[in-house]
This record gives sequence, C-alpha cells and structure tokens, in this order.
Amino acid sequence: MGSSPDVLIIGSGIGGGTLAYRLVQHGLTVTILERGGFLPQEPENWDVNAVFFHQKYVPQETWLDKDGTPFRPGTYYYVGGSSKLYGGAMLRLRERDFEDLEHAAGLSPAWPISYRQLAPYYDLAERLYLVHGEAGVDPTEPPDVPQYPYPALEHEPVIERVASALKDQGIKPFSLPLAVQRHEGGACIRCKTCDGFPCKVHAKTDAEVAAVRPALATGRLTLKTNSKATRLVLTSDGRRVNAVEYESNGCIERITAPVIVLSASAVNSAALLLRSACDKAPRGVANSSGIVGRNYMAHNNTALMSIGWKINGTNFQKTICINDFYFGDDGFKYPMGNIQGLGKLQAGMLTAKHQYLPNFVGRLMAERSVDWWIMSEDLPDPKNRVLLQGDKIRLHYTANNMAGHKRLTEKTVSLMRKIGFKLNIAKHMGGLSVSHQCGTVSFGGDPSKSALNQFCRSFDHNNLFVVDASFFPSSAAVNPALTIAAQAVRVADHMAKVDFGVTGTT
Ligand SMILES: Cc1cc2nc3c(=O)[nH]c(=O)nc-3n(C[C@H](O)[C@H](O)[C@H](O)COP(=O)(O)OP(=O)(O)OC[C@H]3O[C@@H](n4cnc5c(N)ncnc54)[C@H](O)[C@@H]3O)c2cc1C
Ligand code: SF4
Repeated sequence: MGSSPDVLIIGSGIGGGTLAYRLVQHGLTVTILERGGFLPQEPENWDVNAVFFHQKYVPQETWLDKDGTPFRPGTYYYVGGSSKLYGGAMLRLRERDFEDLEHAAGLSPAWPISYRQLAPYYDLAERLYLVHGEAGVDPTEPPDVPQYPYPALEHEPVIERVASALKDQGIKPFSLPLAVQRHEGGACIRCKTCDGFPCKVHAKTDAEVAAVRPALATGRLTLKTNSKATRLVLTSDGRRVNAVEYESNGCIERITAPVIVLSASAVNSAALLLRSACDKAPRGVANSSGIVGRNYMAHNNTALMSIGWKINGTNFQKTICINDFYFGDDGFKYPMGNIQGLGKLQAGMLTAKHQYLPNFVGRLMAERSVDWWIMSEDLPDPKNRVLLQGDKIRLHYTANNMAGHKRLTEKTVSLMRKIGFKLNIAKHMGGLSVSHQCGTVSFGGDPSKSALNQFCRSFDHNNLFVVDASFFPSSAAVNPALTIAAQAVRVADHMAKVDFGVTGTT
C-alpha cells in the first residue's frame, strides 16, 4: 500500500486536473495516478508532419470498432489529457441544453441540474482557464454571463472580411471564447498550429498548465506519472471502493484513500469500471443500473473547407463562431448545432488523410480555404457503448440524429457560396472521431437509469466519483471542456464540504 491522501484521482485531464486544483485550494491532499508522462516541449509540437502524418502524440494502443476492426483512437495520454492538443474553444452549454429538448430523431434528455446551478462554476472555470471572449454577442448565450476574464481575440483580416460578409447575409457571427493566453504578458504568438497540436510555449491553458502545475506548486498534490490504474477494489461489503491497483514500471501497486475519483476519459473510465467487476459487483463497479459503458456520444462532426480564389494568410483561424442555427431555422424546427472556425488547415494535414492527393494540390487548396468545424448533437443510445473484448476496448457506435447535422452543413456551404467561396469540401468525421467522447457513466436522479448522482457520486459506492466527460447525459452541441471543468469545481466544493467538512478555500 502507498501513502494515503485525502483524495485519489485517476487521470489528470480537464476533469481530474481541475478537481485536483480545487481540492488543494480547499486544503486537502490529493494524489493523481496518470498513465502518461508530461508531454515534452519540443520542435515537433508544431510540426504538421510529426503531429498529423506520423501521429506522434497518439497512443500506440488500438481499440476495436463495432465490426471488430482495430483503430488508433485520437485520445491523449499525458498530464493534462486530451486538452494538451485541444483547440481551447470554451463555450457554455445553452440554458435549454439542460432541459428535455426534442430533436429530429428523438429526445435529448434533461440533466439533473439546471444551467442556473452550474452558472457560478462556469464563472470560476472561465477564470481558471483564462478564457478570452466577449459576453453578450452570442445569440444563444445563456442569461447573465459575466464579462470574460480577457477580451476576445481579434479576427485576422480574412476572417474579419468573412464575418462582415456573413453579417450582410443576416448572420450574427461572434468571437469564439478561447483558452489561449493572448493577453498583455501572455506567451501566445498566435501560431498556425494550435487546434490539434500541443502548445510548445505553454500558452494554451490546458489542464496541465491551468490546473495540475498550479496544484503541484501548493505541495498538496502528488502526481504519479506513468501509473496506469488497472482495477478498482471494493470493500468486503461492496459499498465502498477500498483501493486502486495500478501498473507502474512493470509492477502492480495498490493505493488507497478515503475518496476515490475516476477521471480517465469517457471511454477509459467506463472500461475500467467494467474491468473491475467482482462478486460484489458482477456487472462492473458502479454498474447496478447496467448503464456503464452505454449511451456513448461524441457529436456529429464535419470539417468543411470553403475554397475561394484569394490566398487566406490567416495564422489563427479559430476566432469565429456561429450559433444562429443552434436550435433550428425557419424550415427546420429542431436543433442543428454550432459552427466554428477550425484551426487553419495546411497541406500536410490534407495529404495525411488523403494520401492519393498530390501535395501541391493540397497546398493550393489549403492556401485558399477558410475552414470550419460543424458540430451537432448526437443522442444517447444504449446500443452505442463501450465493451471489453479480452484486454481490448471495443467501441460500438452508429451515428444518429444526422438530419439536423446535414442541414447545418448544407446551410454553411450555401452561405459560403453566397459570399464567394464556390468550392466547398465537407468531410464527415465519422463515428471513430473520439475527441468529444462523453456519456458512458451518466449522472441523473434515478439510480436505476444512471450511475451517478448530481454531484457525480456513484449511487452504488459512496466514496467513488466520476468527473470526466462520462457524466454527460446528453452531448449538446458545443465543445465539452468548459462544462467538464465547471462540474469538476462544483464536485470539489461538494466533496470538500460533505466528505471532509471543509467550506473555505485557502
Ligand atoms: C484534437 C482535439 C481538439 C479538441 N478541441 C476542443 C476544444 O476546442 N474545446 C473543447 O471544449 N474540447 C475540445 N476537445 C475535447 C476536450 O479536449 C475533451 O473533452 C477533454 O479534454 C476531456 O477531458 P476529460 O477529463 O474527460 O478526459 P481526458 O482529457 O481524456 O483525461 C483523461 C486522463 O486520464 C488518463 N488515463 C486514462 N486511463 C487511465 C488509467 N487507466 N490510469 C491512469 N490514468 C488514465 C489519460 O492519460 C488522461 O490524462 C478536443 C479534443 C481533441 C482530441
Ligand atoms: S496559438 Fe498560441 S496558444 Fe495556440 S499553440 Fe500557438 S502559441 Fe500556443
């Protein structure tokens, strides 16, 4: 047995890292088990070939898809988790996303908490992640959003012209809230390699930079890197988690703590719970409802290249966002989703995915394109699930609710044509794009239908919490990181008070 902290967290991503940060602010001692190490700051961080073609930072492991075909998942095992390569888009869910919402293909279920309950924690999360944005300009913004910690990044000239042309079409584009340190004294140089790349100068406020490193500086956080949790061990009555087994340097070790938190990402957390099945929990830990692993979601995502005649010399393109059609349009009364700038596509990125495309054609297209990420809600379906097959993870996913997504993509293409971008190439990212994975250990009010209560505490085991994106009962249609962070802060405050009797922060 290792030493016993107040709280043991598995995983140091947005969920685990943010929770650790807030718990040490409450004066508690925390240990994180993280399967990866620190992502090195090195020239390859910003190298298209290394990151896209050679997939330098993608784990070597393979998962199986629904047909049993192996694939390498685009998820990241480092201190900071997937946020090391994220685009830093930090949007709140809309107020109606927390309620039952009728979609073309069925119901997006309500969350067990309202937007109002999460709002103060969104405020704290925006401050922690140094979000740059402008309140009051997003047409579907929730009510009473305070001003952001830092002003929004300005559009570069081509994007400013696109925004202005879209406004002439009656659209209300606005500045995407971003977790990059582009303020007085911040280190961001506004480079071309942000969305999908690690930041070589640590100017992107990912979970390592914003949460884990500051928590380590307090002396109350112990971080065990290259330590992969392999099993949760229950007490003899099965009502609590007694210890966690983990693999480090080829050895299996055990560690315990009064409170155990799982935050290994939606797919890995579900897999670990299922893998920890024992006689006290034959369907898996925290799984008396049978829900663990089910309702996997990851958004319907399309990357769109809108190609014009003129060169697009933009470096940092991810400043623009459109929510005009989030809840539908005049001809479609169901939600459609969000449109936002994609990190500037470069030739290597295209040829990495389409190796038949000659490099010079890719370059000509990428030099002239304005690129978009179109994102719509996929609905929870129990058949879309994480399963174990031997020692492998099997991800059974079939896309659903595509009507709104197709319409949003067509709408975007039609708008871009109208403003002069005649050639549009849309690529649906498909079911194996796991970057927005969520939903596999959902929270809710009914223990027979969900695994966690509204504070992400397991209904089955009183000292177990799950705080990564697993807890989402619906995926909404904005990027997930800010919501994961806000709920992690909320859970930390609850845990400090209820489990340790602590209310103030240091
Ligand atoms: C390329 C890319 C771009 C993105 N852009 C955006 C964006 O702009 N905005 C946004 O909101 N979201 C974005 N996302 C999504 C966002 O990064 C994730 O939603 C978020 O980081 C998930 O946080 P998490 O805590 O749930 O999981 P993760 O970040 O995946 O953290 C899980 C951690 O647990 C560790 N771990 C896993 N298994 C174990 C184990 N068995 N033992 C110990 N440790 C373990 C992992 O190494 C990892 O550090 C993007 C994602 C990607 C991949
Ligand atoms: S744009 Fe700024 S935050 Fe993003 S990778 Fe470049 S320097 Fe880092």
